[in-house]
Amino acid sequence: MNSKYYYLTELAAKCTAKRMVPDYISEKIMLQNKVDKNGNGNCYTCMGCRSFLTPFVDEEGKPKYYGRFNQGVVTVNLVDIGLSAEKDMNKFWQIFDERMELCHRALQCRHERLTGTLSDAAPILWQYGALLRLKKGETIDKYLHGGYSTISLGYAGLWECVYSLIGKKLTEPEGEALGLEIMKKLNEYTAKWKAAENMDYSLYGTPLESTTYKFAKCLQKRFGIVEGVTDRNYITNSYHVHVTEEIDAFDKLKLEAKFQSLSPGGAISYVEVPDMQDNLEAVLSVMRFIYDNIMYAELNTKSDFCHECGFDGQIEVVEENGKLEWVCPNCGNRNTEKMNVARRTCGYIGTQFWNQGRTQEIKERVLHL
Ligand SMILES: [Zn+2]
Repeated sequence: MNSKYYYLTELAAKCTAKRMVPDYISEKIMLQNKVDKNGNGNCYTCMGCRSFLTPFVDEEGKPKYYGRFNQGVVTVNLVDIGLSAEKDMNKFWQIFDERMELCHRALQCRHERLTGTLSDAAPILWQYGALLRLKKGETIDKYLHGGYSTISLGYAGLWECVYSLIGKKLTEPEGEALGLEIMKKLNEYTAKWKAAENMDYSLYGTPLESTTYKFAKCLQKRFGIVEGVTDRNYITNSYHVHVTEEIDAFDKLKLEAKFQSLSPGGAISYVEVPDMQDNLEAVLSVMRFIYDNIMYAELNTKSDFCHECGFDGQIEVVEENGKLEWVCPNCGNRNTEKMNVARRTCGYIGTQFWNQGRTQEIKERVLHL
């Protein structure tokens, strides 16, 4: 606050309130979470909405974060393992092992698909420096091993998985303990594969974009409607607290930080807030809390616009005849061609409207502030 650059922090808060960006990386926490093989903490940006590279040191001993890439993601639907186990923990870990092997093989397919790729396949990427400066006719193979590139095991629905097994929420002590145990187990797998193949497998909180709906529909088909588990058209992203859970912003970030540090390949936490343009002090207090507690987080504010009547505020979702629709609360306009709605879809901000599953999730988000 006494820094001569504090006005930049204030401007960032103002911008977040209007446009949901910038997001916030805590250098303090990141230096603790991202330690390279020389024992140094590193701070760097994410790729897209949440992918984080794992620390890497080049031949000269320097940390390297630009020019690196990811070989792909395979996501495990944790809810399916939870329900398949029918509340039997031994069975759960047995199915868990089987699914991990399935994910592993799927990831190896992605890797094999890339093996032998010539730099000529995408010259801007591989020859002219966007990622590397290889010669014509050279393969990218060397960069698939040794940690230059990452390869991601994604996961989704930790909340519902835990609830299906023990009937507890991640916000309850027993739920939190089991949730953390599952996260640690996932990391043990990526570490094991990494050691065996010299490839940088890491655990990734999958954004899940429209897949949230696909997974939910598949779960309903296999298991029917299970209260608190499959009774919605979406499943919860990564380790997140369920969007309908009443929890304040600070408790949410504090809890999710424990899970985020176990999601090294990528993760983001957010808090849902109302229009904050007249309460920048509250935005600043969340920013300060992020700095002290969690590596990467953001605030979801609301700033929609109706072209029919000029309404500037929050356009709402209503359910009619089993279908969710966007409606201007001022004039009743339902034509999405004539309104701008921006919502955090998973990490990035969407403005093109969403499938019914994601729309339901957006509708049900409770405020944390
Ligand atoms: Zn309107």
